[in-house]
Amino acid sequence: MNASWTTTHLIDAAHGTAYQARLKAFVQHVQSYNLTVGGAMTDPKGDRSKPPHAQEDPDMFVRVVDRGPDGVVLRGAKVHQTGTLNSHWMVVMPGQRLGAADADYAISAAIPVDDPRVSYILGRQSCDTRSMEPSGVDVGNAKFGGQEVTVVLDDVFVPYDRVFMDGETEFAADLVERFTAYHRRSYVCKAGVGDVLIGAAAEIADMNGVAKASHIKDKLVEMTHLNETIFGVGIAASMSAKPTPAGNYEPDVLLANICKHHVTRFPYEIARLAQDLAGGVVVTMPSDDDFNSEEIGAILKKYLCAAPGVDPDDRRRVLRLIENMTMGRNAVGYLAESMHGAGSPAAQRVLIQKLGQIAEKRGYARDIAGCGGACSKA
Ligand SMILES: Cc1cc2nc3c(=O)[nH]c(=O)nc-3n(C[C@H](O)[C@H](O)[C@H](O)COP(=O)(O)OP(=O)(O)OC[C@H]3O[C@@H](n4cnc5c(N)ncnc54)[C@H](O)[C@@H]3O)c2cc1C
Repeated sequence: MNASWTTTHLIDAAHGTAYQARLKAFVQHVQSYNLTVGGAMTDPKGDRSKPPHAQEDPDMFVRVVDRGPDGVVLRGAKVHQTGTLNSHWMVVMPGQRLGAADADYAISAAIPVDDPRVSYILGRQSCDTRSMEPSGVDVGNAKFGGQEVTVVLDDVFVPYDRVFMDGETEFAADLVERFTAYHRRSYVCKAGVGDVLIGAAAEIADMNGVAKASHIKDKLVEMTHLNETIFGVGIAASMSAKPTPAGNYEPDVLLANICKHHVTRFPYEIARLAQDLAGGVVVTMPSDDDFNSEEIGAILKKYLCAAPGVDPDDRRRVLRLIENMTMGRNAVGYLAESMHGAGSPAAQRVLIQKLGQIAEKRGYARDIAGCGGACSKA
């Protein structure tokens, strides 16, 4: 919404359109009824080396297939959608820079999620069928999980009062960059997930009787260092926010991208250290059914207990949580989504290169070093 707020302001100024007034009315509706809106940006994209208009199948990106007096008709799909299924509305947006030949793909519009011409296909997740088991122990985290869906738009009619961009290709990249700045900064949330995994790692080390070992303490320090680095940069991006000409605030784009770039790496290292502290049993432990079986339950409880006084059932719950977060259902959100959500690592590096002020930094260095003459162009 924030990204669209600024971009609609810019499009209206350039083209005399009235997109921002429409967006404002939509925001007022959403706020009045306390509704949830999913940001639907990612297209299937087909051959990644080609722009939308050059794809063999023109439906690889959401596009306008008809324009009438009252509205547009949209066809295509949005993939990997986290929030859409449990939202009231989705706002579809272009997901990349577009050229003049891509005008039908430069579309941003709000669609109610229960539109009869929209369908949802649920994604599979690692270990997802464990959620259907009655005991709840082997699922690892019986409280929280997420899901992604493929959203299919089968000629969906959208009235013009819910269209916030239609054909202004030169503003597609602007919208994407603004959207990703908010979104990449929002990846500060992975630090909260990291807190849980660090806690689980500390807990299992204690249950295993090794909490006082210096390398264990050091690994917990390392995990904390990585996690708080994500937190610190995410908060810094927000604290450095600046007002835009449209009246809203935008986070510091460089810091937002640095935050997300850390997130593409550090959770993997935190997960690796958690698996290190957990021991091999995190992947070899028998099932909850086996632990509860009359025949072998007592044997398993005898051999799978650790430090004195530790309840073996508690120990396997913590192990299952580590498994869940590092290779089960919640690894979707903690690891793979950390890699690709809001753009894969290369997308952040493009902006880091653009905003890194290397020329200015060369000037500082040349000044302090006492270099004479002009900078080389290299
Ligand atoms: C769990 C999860 C939740 C998500 N939730 C949402 C959501 O709610 N809403 C939403 O809109 N999106 C969502 N996303 C999508 C996310 O933004 C994309 O996954 C991301 O932009 C990468 O796109 P892709 O998955 O199609 O990967 P690809 O584009 O296939 O990328 C794969 C690799 O190819 C590289 N690559 C891609 N194109 C090029 C190119 N032209 N030139 C060179 N290299 C290239 C990439 O850098 C990457 O290394 C989610 C993703 C995940 C994994």
